Amino acid sequence: MDLKRHCLKLNDGHFIPVLGYGTYASLEAPKGKAEEATKLAIDAGFRHIDSAYLYQNEEEVGRAIRSKIADGIVKREDIFYTSKLWVTFLRPELVRPALEKSLKKLQLDYVDLYIIHFPMALKALEKCKDAGLVKSIGVSNFNHRQLEMILNKPGLKYKPVCNQVECHPYLNQSKLLDFCKSKDIVLVAYSALGTTRDKRWVDQSSPVLLDDPVLGALAKKHKRTPALIALRYQLQRGVVVLAKSCNEKRIKENTQVFEFQLTPEDMKDLDGLNRNVRYITAEFGTGHPNYPFSEEY
Ligand code: NAP
Repeated sequence: MDLKRHCLKLNDGHFIPVLGYGTYASLEAPKGKAEEATKLAIDAGFRHIDSAYLYQNEEEVGRAIRSKIADGIVKREDIFYTSKLWVTFLRPELVRPALEKSLKKLQLDYVDLYIIHFPMALKALEKCKDAGLVKSIGVSNFNHRQLEMILNKPGLKYKPVCNQVECHPYLNQSKLLDFCKSKDIVLVAYSALGTTRDKRWVDQSSPVLLDDPVLGALAKKHKRTPALIALRYQLQRGVVVLAKSCNEKRIKENTQVFEFQLTPEDMKDLDGLNRNVRYITAEFGTGHPNYPFSEEY
């Protein structure tokens, strides 16, 4: 399937495929897995690949992309690759070297989207865009006030094209989504399937999203799976959605998200599941003045 056709236009004119492949796996996962899984994802039709300095897998993910380019399966311009600037590199003089470090690991000339991973400080990446090292600049885990702060920054050259945040039926971010839409900023949903439940990040007593009975009933109704219902929900709200899997069968399954539609009633039922369950609370940042998750949205 050619997922390239399913794109949203960003506010800087570039296009982002609405279904993305999430590459984050726990650090205990074998390194080779990221390469193998990314290759499987490209074979299955994913063209948007989401990674980050933090994930420590850019070498493997880059190898997978380059090998698919070398095999003639894709061209560089067919791939939309996202990397993220980690919070230790937010001092202006560290930004470009951090991006260059990612590019070196990837062995790529540019990334399509570079995202400020957490808003513990706000620095522009505009020079990297002007230098051609990155096509688009985005942010992640920003609340609406932090977005507003960036948008109101005097002399802002490029506004962020996206805000990548946790988003799923238990935390549907409807207010933040409305805010982003009003500013022409695409909301990219991470942990759309309820996270990998990594012990280091996620409270193990939190509810398991894909076991939800409403998702189960809709899956049965549409002869799909709860995961596909959760992914489809986002697409019909105008959200770009990431799906992580290391399993070939599930990687392929997730591309079926374009093969069916939820009714307005289904969407309403899914909206009704919202219960402010935030799986990734980023507790390392709780004392910081820019900690994003104390705001309502
Ligand atoms: P997720 O997409 O919510 O996936 C959670 C789990 O669902 C995976 O462990 C996967 O297990 C399973 N899964 C996938 N497809 C399935 C299917 N069809 N049926 C049943 N289970 C399925 O995971 P996530 O890693 O939290 O989020 C996705 C991506 O978002 C990450 O990889 C990363 O790229 C990004 N992210 C960004 C941030 C940020 O701060 N910006 C934070 C978290 C994540 P299997 O591998 O066993 O299939």
